[in-house]
Amino acid sequence: MQLISRAAWGAPATSPAAALPSARGVAVHYLGVRYDSRPHSQCAAMVRSVRDAHLANKVEGYLDVAYNYLACEHGYVYEGRGAGRRSGANGGTSQNANYYAVCALHGTSGQPSDALLRGLAEAIAHLQQCGAGREVVCHGDLTATDCPGGPLTSWVRGGHPLPPISTQPNTPTPEEDAVPTAAAFRARDYTRKLRPDEWTLLNWTRRQDGEKWATKDPEPSLLLAPCQYTASFGVRIKGLQPGDEVQLRFSYWAKKKDGDGWERVATTPIDSPAHVGGGGHFTYQWTGRLPKGHRLRAEVLHFRREADAEVVCDRADFEANYWPA
Ligand SMILES: [Zn+2]
Ligand SMILES: [Zn+2]
Repeated sequence: MQLISRAAWGAPATSPAAALPSARGVAVHYLGVRYDSRPHSQCAAMVRSVRDAHLANKVEGYLDVAYNYLACEHGYVYEGRGAGRRSGANGGTSQNANYYAVCALHGTSGQPSDALLRGLAEAIAHLQQCGAGREVVCHGDLTATDCPGGPLTSWVRGGHPLPPISTQPNTPTPEEDAVPTAAAFRARDYTRKLRPDEWTLLNWTRRQDGEKWATKDPEPSLLLAPCQYTASFGVRIKGLQPGDEVQLRFSYWAKKKDGDGWERVATTPIDSPAHVGGGGHFTYQWTGRLPKGHRLRAEVLHFRREADAEVVCDRADFEANYWPA
């Protein structure tokens, strides 16, 4: 799940909403107003405005944004009240005691994107791991409303399936006797500054060459040819403060349409390893298929509200086994 924590989108780190350790299921919502597609850089502001509107609603008397999670059209999941909290969105005390609430940043027209559906499905699965029962319903099943609109209602009725993405886990099925090729890269004594709330590409300064390690110019690409792979990377990060959050992922890059440079076209799901400040060693592992014309790279993000101290990645290791696709 590509989770964006409350602190990262500008809400107090913990929701004041009442605890609700378990519930029958999850209710799906949408914005219910016109909402046009927009760049992801505007999504956090949208989530803040949903929270502001809820806080300003004197009739409902909300303490916080009413939903447990919100998903944007780009597949990111924003932490609302979070798991284990009673929602305020379902239309009544008993509805809120029985169902958690997830909201699509989607309006009254157009089809929800696959990435949005994936984000919703991941938020629902996460709530199910944290106390929600198997039931997934529409807001309109609980109270008289059109929410979450036609397309999302159909998606819920159809079993809220997880749409495919190109980085979907894809267990390698190499020939019985196929021998995988191994790849290994390192970045040592190479300090990479991590800017807050920004994905930073790791650069690699050494490559395994037979038995030996060879120095090379720093550059981010790890796997270049189409293949099925099982890969992992680990990073050592210094300067973290308690409350900072670290996230890791791989990304797929392709030549830009105009042929000038590379652009990120897909990412693997985020892992957010836990830590308690200071520094630490974080690892990420993924099994997938790299399509033709793409490159695999590794990225790190740290979330921090106050960005005064320097956070650096000073060491990274990558290892992979891959089979030509
Ligand atoms: Zn609703
Ligand atoms: Zn977005």
